[in-house]
Amino acid sequence: MARFKTQLVHGVEIDDNNTGAVNPPIYNSSTYTFDSVESVPRWDYARSGNPTREFLERQIAQLEQGCRGFAFASGLAAIHAVLSIFSPGDRIIVGDNVYGGTYSQINEFFNRWGLEFDAVDTRDLDAVQAAFDRARAEGSPVRAVYFETLTNPLLKVNDVAALARIAHEHDAIAIVDNTFVTPYLQKPLTLGVDIVLHSATKYLAGHSDVVAGLAVARTEELANRVYFAQNRLGGVLPPAECDAVRRGIQTLALRMDRQQSNALAIAQFLERHPLVAKVHYPGLASNEDYHLALRQLRGFGGVLSFEVRKGVDPADVLNNLHVFRLAVSLGAVESLAEFPASMTHFEVPREERLKLGITDELIRLAVGIEDVFDLTEDLKQALDIAERAAARRGTAARDTVKVRVAVTR
Ligand SMILES: *Cc1c(COP(=O)(O)O)cnc(C)c1O
Repeated sequence: MARFKTQLVHGVEIDDNNTGAVNPPIYNSSTYTFDSVESVPRWDYARSGNPTREFLERQIAQLEQGCRGFAFASGLAAIHAVLSIFSPGDRIIVGDNVYGGTYSQINEFFNRWGLEFDAVDTRDLDAVQAAFDRARAEGSPVRAVYFETLTNPLLKVNDVAALARIAHEHDAIAIVDNTFVTPYLQKPLTLGVDIVLHSATKYLAGHSDVVAGLAVARTEELANRVYFAQNRLGGVLPPAECDAVRRGIQTLALRMDRQQSNALAIAQFLERHPLVAKVHYPGLASNEDYHLALRQLRGFGGVLSFEVRKGVDPADVLNNLHVFRLAVSLGAVESLAEFPASMTHFEVPREERLKLGITDELIRLAVGIEDVFDLTEDLKQALDIAERAAARRGTAARDTVKVRVAVTR
């Protein structure tokens, strides 16, 4: 069988009408002819299925080593479809720091729909165990645990294998959003997870040019339930977008290798910078989750965050970056920087945000594939401007123990 990087490029062959085309065709057809009234054609109507979408769905199922994949019009459409396999009254343990859009889908939509959620810090396995026990004692057993491999924006690492094991011990399933990690760095289904989700908008598509979601189920039984939701809710990914994601996936490993090496170099640069109080990146040996990440991930990904020292205005850093673009999202070839407090995490009330550790000094970077020296130089000059601004205000709080780091090739 082809190895992972070869699978990325080739996918699973489909019948392309013997044209010999090296890429699968984009079928722009919403409907398909029947041979006769009695016939049961493979394709009949494009919401139910389409060969271009099937190529992508088989590609992601192969990469995640699942039984069947599904492509949706966005990551949130994929999450919506997967959570809708449950019924009103069902109870789900959900990570207390999941993606903001997921948080509001759960709290503003699925709770009205009658699903019950227990928000738990999924890194605390005792807390997860206790939540299961509490639910059982209350007579409404938990049906699923939902979490993200790496949390956003603090990049905390969840123990995927342990969470899947605890879920199964309680006859629940484990659902993981693997957007930040991708199957290149971890295949959650091989660690016992039952359904894996992606915002393919991010690393899989990889070029900030498409919004898409993917889901992969481990068993036929779960796949049938997800397929029902996909076909009946109808949030399917159109053929041209399926092709954009397919093409992005071909270069996933190449991009991720560069993004990770750039991210590590930037994390090390920031860790030594006198204006930086803390760097959050699991690839740093000083990170509390470093050993768990080493054990369960093939790499540490391309997203990191850092806190400037109190007295330094993070806006002075963000507003003066030139190579990094000030934007939400992540996983693309270009580097992006953002301010979680007012951009990605504005929906989270300040008190709750601070409790999660998302401070008013936190900056998140989604590192791209540019020359790493352009990226570190860009950060250095923006930090210099922020330092001068803080000095003018008289709020400078430079760490005199750290020495200036030079950015040189
Ligand atoms: C972006 C994102 C989503 C939502 O995906 P969309 O494609 O924007 O709908 C879900 N989970 C995570 C972790 C994300 O980063």
